Amino acid sequence: MTRVAVVGGGIAGASIALFRARRGDDVTLFEASPVLGGQLSTLLDGGFVVEQGAEGFVAASESVGALAGELGIEARIVGQLTTKSYAFDGTKLHALARGEAAQFLGFQVPQRALGQGIRAFATGMSELVESLSQKLRTIVDVRVSSPVKELTLRGGAPVVAVGDAELAVDRVFVATSAQRASELLAPSFGAPAAELGSARTVSSVTVSLAYERGSIEHALDGTGFVVAEGAQREGFRACTFTTSKLPARAPDGYALLRAFFRPSGDDLATLDDAAWARRAERGIAAALAPRTAPERAWVARWPAALPVFDAEHRARVAALEAAIAGSGVFVAGAAFHGSGIDGALASARRVAEHSV
Ligand SMILES: Cc1cc2nc3c(=O)[nH]c(=O)nc-3n(C[C@H](O)[C@H](O)[C@H](O)COP(=O)(O)OP(=O)(O)OC[C@H]3O[C@@H](n4cnc5c(N)ncnc54)[C@H](O)[C@@H]3O)c2cc1C
Repeated sequence: MTRVAVVGGGIAGASIALFRARRGDDVTLFEASPVLGGQLSTLLDGGFVVEQGAEGFVAASESVGALAGELGIEARIVGQLTTKSYAFDGTKLHALARGEAAQFLGFQVPQRALGQGIRAFATGMSELVESLSQKLRTIVDVRVSSPVKELTLRGGAPVVAVGDAELAVDRVFVATSAQRASELLAPSFGAPAAELGSARTVSSVTVSLAYERGSIEHALDGTGFVVAEGAQREGFRACTFTTSKLPARAPDGYALLRAFFRPSGDDLATLDDAAWARRAERGIAAALAPRTAPERAWVARWPAALPVFDAEHRARVAALEAAIAGSGVFVAGAAFHGSGIDGALASARRVAEHSV
């Protein structure tokens, strides 16, 4: 039986664990944090469905539909309610052409997916993670709160170190950020792995605010607005009208809005939740002028979470893959083969199935 270790329990790592276990491998999945999901994380709070990370997947995605089918949760997929979007120029909201908003947000969406919108799960993206976790429970040794601290090659075979324990395996799949993979792989694979540490990433902070619906005069008849470059203040880049974009995201009578920030300087390290919530309130007030303050706020921080896919990064990944070829070590996920849930999952399936 092939012994497999998977490092990272985001959607990519958790899926690799499933795909390999179904082939009959003996799989151990290590996740650093207390829960699986990585950048997929939904809070269900008082009737609000609050996405902390990704809110949905590109509607054109085949990989998410296929996984949902395998997990028996295809019927839980919901579509976007509208495709209209706005831009805020500092004074007014203007309607945008289809597809322009996604490009504006900096989420690198494949050309074929632009303007087609997203799909999601009825009570948030964590539904996919929970269903996957349930399946894994019986066929994979899942270890949460278990950061892999070292990955070495001993007698040509991979060994992972977690806490005081070591596990010798035949294959290791690293599905973390590029930075974390670089730290783990550099001791055994030298320069090509070390270089990966300089991969560019973008940080994000999101703030969901719940307003009484009647306090906002605007029809909120769209997915939200992006902020034009000259009008961006305090890192505020965009706002999703969550309750207009996706069904059943808040109790009746509420508008749930989500502000997206690109933090700069030491904002990420120094601003507390209340300060981010005030920034979101100010940004939303400028565009929508609500008559009352929001009743609830939820803040999520994502330091260095979004990989930037440029020619340099692709070359770095190719060099690393050449260096690890034949070692039993593989990399997969959004950090290596294409950002977004669709990119992460497509990478997971391809790497899991072709790494024989
Ligand atoms: C705010 C935000 C909004 C987004 N919106 C969208 C969207 O609407 N649509 C979309 O398609 N994509 C979106 N994305 C991107 C998408 O969520 C990610 O591309 C995708 O979820 C990445 O999955 P992954 O498994 O490759 O990586 P991750 O989810 O980053 O998982 C990596 C995992 O590895 C773990 N780990 C790290 N080091 C170790 C270690 N040493 N040992 C063990 N475990 C370790 C981490 O804890 C983490 O759980 C968004 C991202 C953010 C941050």
